[in-house]
Amino acid sequence: MHDAHFHMSKELFDLFKENKMKGICNVDSVEEYECIQSLLKEYPFEFSVGIHPWKADQINFEEMKPLFSKTKFIGEIGLDNTWCDVDLDVQRRVFIQQLEFASKYQKPVILHVKGMEQEALNLIKRYKNTYIVHWYSCLDFLKEYDEVVDYFTVGPSVGIDEAVTNLVKNVDVHKLLLESDGIDAIEWAIQSRDYLKMFNHSIEQINEIKQMDCTDILDQNFNQLLKRA
Ligand SMILES: [Zn+2]
Repeated sequence: MHDAHFHMSKELFDLFKENKMKGICNVDSVEEYECIQSLLKEYPFEFSVGIHPWKADQINFEEMKPLFSKTKFIGEIGLDNTWCDVDLDVQRRVFIQQLEFASKYQKPVILHVKGMEQEALNLIKRYKNTYIVHWYSCLDFLKEYDEVVDYFTVGPSVGIDEAVTNLVKNVDVHKLLLESDGIDAIEWAIQSRDYLKMFNHSIEQINEIKQMDCTDILDQNFNQLLKRA
């Protein structure tokens, strides 16, 4: 099983290792990068490095640049006018810097586009790359995104959130990946901190929506993404 996008914690790492998961851990600061180095000695996983839109006014591109050269994936990066009040001009500047870098070195990008779906889409169209949209929760622009991006990560709210469920219904199964977004996000979405139960629930929901067993296809999608990086 895979977790294509998560934020690291001791609680998650123990379960990740115990269940022999594969996945991409999000790194959004130099401190976090240093922290995962010791975990990587214990159990392998991939990681992505990016300046999160919520932190666009706290961390600058130059500071993170040494880490960008060490990562295969850039993310999560993007724009957000819903869950944070960081100045949108600052968010745009930092997002564009990272899109340019990622496209130049062809490092796949994990996107966060909450409330800014249309503008983020217009921006990514300018930078050719592999794109993974994390937790897309908007009923609009899905078709337009589907034409441009390569994968969508589906999180704990599938079957609960109408937009996430709509995405699974309308996007080809070969473009879907599983994600937890971390233990706190699981709790936020389904009021439980049960990592494995969440994945089993997500797979069940996807299978039901697609009317087929998608378990192996989802893992194959993740393996294909790793090959592209
Ligand atoms: Zn995240």
